[in-house]
Amino acid sequence: MLNPVAENLALIHSKITEACKRVNRNPNEVNIIAVTKYVSINRAKEAQETGLFHFGENYEEGLIEKYSELGSDIVWHYIGTLQSRKVKNIIDKVDYIHSLDRMSLVKELNKRAVNVVKCFIQVNVSNEESKHGIHPNELVPFIKMIEDYPLINVVGLMTMAPHTDDKDVIRSCFKHLRKCQQDVQALQVSYAPCQNLSMGMSHDFEIAIEEGATFIRIGTSLVGE
Ligand SMILES: *Cc1c(COP(=O)(O)O)cnc(C)c1O
Repeated sequence: MLNPVAENLALIHSKITEACKRVNRNPNEVNIIAVTKYVSINRAKEAQETGLFHFGENYEEGLIEKYSELGSDIVWHYIGTLQSRKVKNIIDKVDYIHSLDRMSLVKELNKRAVNVVKCFIQVNVSNEESKHGIHPNELVPFIKMIEDYPLINVVGLMTMAPHTDDKDVIRSCFKHLRKCQQDVQALQVSYAPCQNLSMGMSHDFEIAIEEGATFIRIGTSLVGE
């Protein structure tokens, strides 16, 4: 029996290669995060068997459960909204946090962490009420405030494009995030190298790659619903 994730992964790899070719990027710059929030442990193990090692979870419970089953070779990404009171339960298990969006969370992470925490700041570039993330205008002041919290390292920015079939709208969101990245990089601060862009999901990862994504977060089209 062929591993169903392997089949999906082959298709995704070919789309990554094509998208990279269109904009002259090296496909090795694009990391796939397998988002396992909807699926069983077994399916997550099938994903692991294909050689995928970046895994993303949205919820504390799912993370803790899969963390204990899949072993320590996985690089864990916490991609969901993070409540401050949950930080202490996940901080020793995750390698990256993609949803840093407020100072209270910065403080809690800095208080609970033992080592430096690699964080993406979630930016609401689509400016939808429903979306989490800080407003682009608040990004640079936010970065400056993080200076006082030595265990926070800003490795990049994260966003979610709106649910739409309008590719221009999606693309302009991703372009906007890249512009925000340049603003952060212009600060030239050591605690915020901001070298990564976490953007692109099942339905829009090819556009995200064309606009510079280094981490794409794929759930449905990779591991199923
Ligand atoms: C669920 C989720 C994904 C994956 O979404 P798919 O459309 O299933 O690929 C990516 N990022 C975040 C933040 C998510 O919550």
